[in-house]
Amino acid sequence: MSHSDSILCTLCPRRCGADRSLRPGFCGLGTEMRIARIAPHLWEEPPISGTRGTGAVFFSGCTLRCVYCQNGDISHRNAGRAFSPRALADSLKRLEDLGVHSISFITGTPFVPQILETLSLYRPNLPLVWNSSGYETVETLKMLEGVMDVYLPDLKHWSSRTGALCAKAPDYFEAASLAVAEMCRQTGLPAYNDEGIMIRGTLIRHLILPSLTGESLKLLTWIRDTLPAGTPVSLMRQYLPCNDVRIPELQRRITEREYARVLSHMEALELPGFLQEAEAASSDFVPLFNRDGSFV
Ligand code: SF4
Repeated sequence: MSHSDSILCTLCPRRCGADRSLRPGFCGLGTEMRIARIAPHLWEEPPISGTRGTGAVFFSGCTLRCVYCQNGDISHRNAGRAFSPRALADSLKRLEDLGVHSISFITGTPFVPQILETLSLYRPNLPLVWNSSGYETVETLKMLEGVMDVYLPDLKHWSSRTGALCAKAPDYFEAASLAVAEMCRQTGLPAYNDEGIMIRGTLIRHLILPSLTGESLKLLTWIRDTLPAGTPVSLMRQYLPCNDVRIPELQRRITEREYARVLSHMEALELPGFLQEAEAASSDFVPLFNRDGSFV
């Protein structure tokens, strides 16, 4: 079935059942693929970005839409423009010609059928990375099995209260825990090429939130207890109050003490992975997007 046919969308755990050919779903997206930016991107983890960057495709919209999102223009307000699968395939070729190490599909869940159509037209000879909020269904991930080489999911909220408060998703952890387990099943443990670029595997990101370090500890323990030993974790400390966040606890950066608490827990669990430099907790490092975006 082509993406332009009338179907009731259940691509993400919202399963809102919208007929997107008639009206957008919770994510605000119709059936036309929309993209906010396509460009080399240097600011992911070293095995994703390397020295020449990942070819990043930032899709418009998001199925999670956290209240504190740093990219609110894209995720909440769907900045971007329409792309056909053919036009995206041509852009992927241009990214490859620029010498990037990998191609990253960022928050592409509402457009999985269109992305598969794109890759049937042109499949870059590079690792393909699925960069996601972690809020995915196993059914949709199975559509990507054998297509994506690397999964880069966030694992954000532990309690249903926090999922509801931050993203109107009380089922966040229920869905994301099944999703990251499925990602690990598909990819197995990470493998790297001679340049240190991940060519296969799942790398889990966790952003520490102010006042919520207890959730961070539970999530890290869950990773250690549940996922295959050796699954790497990227611990991120760059939280900035963005997007006019109204929740008082989230209107500040994390403290050194909060960071140290989570870091020492991660070390005690002997989880492998990556840490973010303190300097990255600066608005200078928040990608800026304008209405017209930027495209290769
Ligand atoms: S991808 Fe969008 S339309 Fe589809 S189920 Fe999720 S929120 Fe609803």
